Amino acid sequence: MITRRTLLAGLSGLALAASGPARAQGAERMRVTATFSILADLVRQIAGDRVEVAALVGPDGDGHVYSPTPADARRLTASRIVVANGLGFEGWIDRLVRASGTKATIVEASRGVRTLKAADDHGQGHAHGSVDPHAWQDVVNVKLYVATIRDALIKADLPGADGYRARTDAYLAALDALDREIRDAIARLAPDRRRVITSHDSFAYFEAAYGLDFVAPQGVSTEAEASARDVARIIDQIRRERIPAVFLENVSDPRLVERIAKDTGAVTGGRLYSDALSGPDGPAPTYIDMMRHNIRAISQALSS
Ligand SMILES: [Zn+2]
Repeated sequence: MITRRTLLAGLSGLALAASGPARAQGAERMRVTATFSILADLVRQIAGDRVEVAALVGPDGDGHVYSPTPADARRLTASRIVVANGLGFEGWIDRLVRASGTKATIVEASRGVRTLKAADDHGQGHAHGSVDPHAWQDVVNVKLYVATIRDALIKADLPGADGYRARTDAYLAALDALDREIRDAIARLAPDRRRVITSHDSFAYFEAAYGLDFVAPQGVSTEAEASARDVARIIDQIRRERIPAVFLENVSDPRLVERIAKDTGAVTGGRLYSDALSGPDGPAPTYIDMMRHNIRAISQALSS
């Protein structure tokens, strides 16, 4: 609906920025910034078109080791809400928030999830007892993320509350269906084939929730390189336990896993999306698409 006010805002937007009507319309909407692509999708599912959502780390980007830009700081300043995963995933976010001076509400989407300890047996120097941040790999955790995001949106924009609630309810139902779909797919795999290799330890929550075993030469962050000893240990393990498939990740250097596949003769099962979505034309443009793509890739590699 075009009211006199949006029309005026549109005209002044055009005059000031000479940017099209989309920009002018955006000026009316609340701005929310998410730290990375997966969270940005969750916010979009709940916010509908009431909110202008942006991600700091975009598709296929690595949120562990991101270097924020001055444009990111400006984006934070213009935002009402900043949604972060927390659990130490975005090591750079606190400094960026301070540097930007933003008055935005900072929402930790993982609040309330049952956390897993980071696997610290890779000699990566993780502090003992540090937490694994990849909680979104369990769909049940994402239901908590979504409720937290809904509550933050309602608090910041009460007139949109009914819409936020309705979209959340529909999305929660879709997440329940996704959770069942993953469980069914895993149940169809032979128990002795439920093991795969990935490059970094990002699937522990998936493993705990759905009972598939992931082994990774790199630790829970992509920050540390896998040591030669870690790689040799994994190669031994693949041969000894006849692990059928190794997977590349969209956020990791593919060379490590390609070398392991070559040395062991394990099947390369394609690309898993662990810490970031694909672009809009890729196989994982939303969280639900991402989980479906991963389970399909895993099922194909392990049932062949
Ligand atoms: Zn990760």
